[in-house]
Amino acid sequence: MRLRNISGSREIVAQDEHVIQEPEQYKGKWNNLFQNNNPIHVEIGMGKGKFIMQLAQRNPNINYIGIEKYSSVLLRALEKRREVELNNLFFIRFDAEYLNNIFDTEEISRIYLNFSDPWPKDRHAKRRLTSREFLSKYNLCLKQEGEVIFKTDNRMLFDFSVEEAKETGWKLRNVTYDLHNSEFVEGNVMTEYEEKFSAMGNPIHQMIAYR
Ligand code: SAM
Repeated sequence: MRLRNISGSREIVAQDEHVIQEPEQYKGKWNNLFQNNNPIHVEIGMGKGKFIMQLAQRNPNINYIGIEKYSSVLLRALEKRREVELNNLFFIRFDAEYLNNIFDTEEISRIYLNFSDPWPKDRHAKRRLTSREFLSKYNLCLKQEGEVIFKTDNRMLFDFSVEEAKETGWKLRNVTYDLHNSEFVEGNVMTEYEEKFSAMGNPIHQMIAYR
């Protein structure tokens, strides 16, 4: 999702109290920011933030960090964020390419990837957030028992992701090609894209990868 470049969005995002401006300085110390030792769950490519905000409201004993590459998109999440009182949710405007600059070894318990950009051309496969290149970044910062939860309606991206995970030694569970009609649907929180694509009749695929 790349919204129209909204004038001033970068400045607004740079001043918002819920956005961590220099995330590198928290590497290995994220729990200091939250002032507790609760598990940290991260959503990469959070878009307008509905999913992570709902999870943060539901689970006060989990610390949430939403990562989004573009200010113009993050701005939308901030508008909603201001309406809720939460001390377990922060955002970062950041390219996940550099994830290991901001999270230390075994610092995170869970990574959510929701409706990640498909990058359909083969030559762009490395940019997919479920490519082996990204999986190895997740491998470094996830705790031993950590996991990656991925949802998409894009069958090509899903099949690619299952293959990449298997070929790089990840185990898979709760794999489904139709999440909303599966036994795994209980507790599912819909993202903005999930609402849009399932309303169009697209089945939602899900996998959970762990080591
Ligand atoms: N997760 C949301 C949902 O399901 O409604 C948004 C999905 S949208 C298709 C993908 C989002 O991921 C976009 O907002 C995009 O800017 C963001 N994104 C893509 N690559 C990223 C990266 N390398 N680091 C951080 N965010 C990224």
